[in-house]
Amino acid sequence: MSETTIPTTEQPETGITPGGTSGAFRDVLSKDHARRGKPPVHFADMTEDERVETAKKLGLPKFRVKQLANHYYGHFDVNAAEFTDFPASKREEAAAAFFPELITEVTRQVADEGTTIKTLWKLFDGSLIESVLMRYPTRTTLCISSQVGCGMGCPFCATGQLGLTRNMSTGEILEQVRVAAKMMRDGEVAGGPGRLSNIVFMGMGEPMGNYRSVLSAVRQISAMPPEGFGISARNITVSTVGVVPGIRKFTAEGIPVRLAVSLHAPSDELRDELVPMNKRFNTTQVLDAAHDYWLASKRRVSIEYALMRGINDQAEHARLLAKRLNHYGDNWAHVNPIPLNPIEGSKWTASKPEDEARFLEILHAAGITATLRDTRGQDIDGACGQLAAKER
Ligand code: SF4
Repeated sequence: MSETTIPTTEQPETGITPGGTSGAFRDVLSKDHARRGKPPVHFADMTEDERVETAKKLGLPKFRVKQLANHYYGHFDVNAAEFTDFPASKREEAAAAFFPELITEVTRQVADEGTTIKTLWKLFDGSLIESVLMRYPTRTTLCISSQVGCGMGCPFCATGQLGLTRNMSTGEILEQVRVAAKMMRDGEVAGGPGRLSNIVFMGMGEPMGNYRSVLSAVRQISAMPPEGFGISARNITVSTVGVVPGIRKFTAEGIPVRLAVSLHAPSDELRDELVPMNKRFNTTQVLDAAHDYWLASKRRVSIEYALMRGINDQAEHARLLAKRLNHYGDNWAHVNPIPLNPIEGSKWTASKPEDEARFLEILHAAGITATLRDTRGQDIDGACGQLAAKER
């Protein structure tokens, strides 16, 4: 384990939060956290100039780059055989240079009659990450990972136990989306052909810890083909455990994504214990930043709250949460209490149904919008990071 002091302004890019310097908390780094080299550069990682330059090296004119963008973003194609508008002699070379295989399926678990599919992926260096596809009657949501593991060390979370191995590249993040979009289009998900409509950055990792790659991924997910996959920014959710500089920076980008803040506790006293990051950015700072996001974007902020039996799920917690949110005076937040999917052998366990119900009632009575979050995939280790933790 090592500690590095990094200026606050650079925090979102580092992927490894500084921590420790004030004795506030220690970053959790995985045992094999060593520089592993960078993933192969992918079309999605390149600027337009870099794409043109790479094409030039292959003896391909500029307009071929546009064709490749159409294949990738418009048709989800990365295989040489699919580039039928390309000279046959160049297809293989182009596919190898622009679309190296970044994620390889290790296992796939299916639940909810085929409408929930959780995939464990291996990256180029053997790292494991996961994504979950959830099909609903009116939308299909993909939950994606942005880091290998997570350095935030929340004690109740499976990913937190893994520690942070590394940030994922934009290409690695985007490939999760492309594969799912293709599966939907091709009818590989129960319910027949359809469209991937929503993306949530709630898989492994802290998105604000990998700011640059996440931002680039958001832009490429939301831009219309051939610049991106054409999934509206309004249907993209970026979650954070409360990395305030990241929230503020994201606010300034002016992209109308939904922000989700994993609060999990209404007071600093309790949150310090559940979310070590709280010792760096406390509940007031986090809620202020989240409320400013609402003011700037007019998009309601989701407050994620994992209900843990006897720890944060009592009436007093619900009352305090309502008070803290109502302090801002407008209907700016939507609370999503989530029944905790406990990790094996941990003391943190899910709330009793009656406590869940009371928690919701108190919020509603205080005028707070709140819905119990659906816990798809409970039977397939749906808690974030759990599958990868098992594989290890
Ligand atoms: S709860 Fe979120 S921020 Fe905390 S360790 Fe798990 S993945 Fe990281």
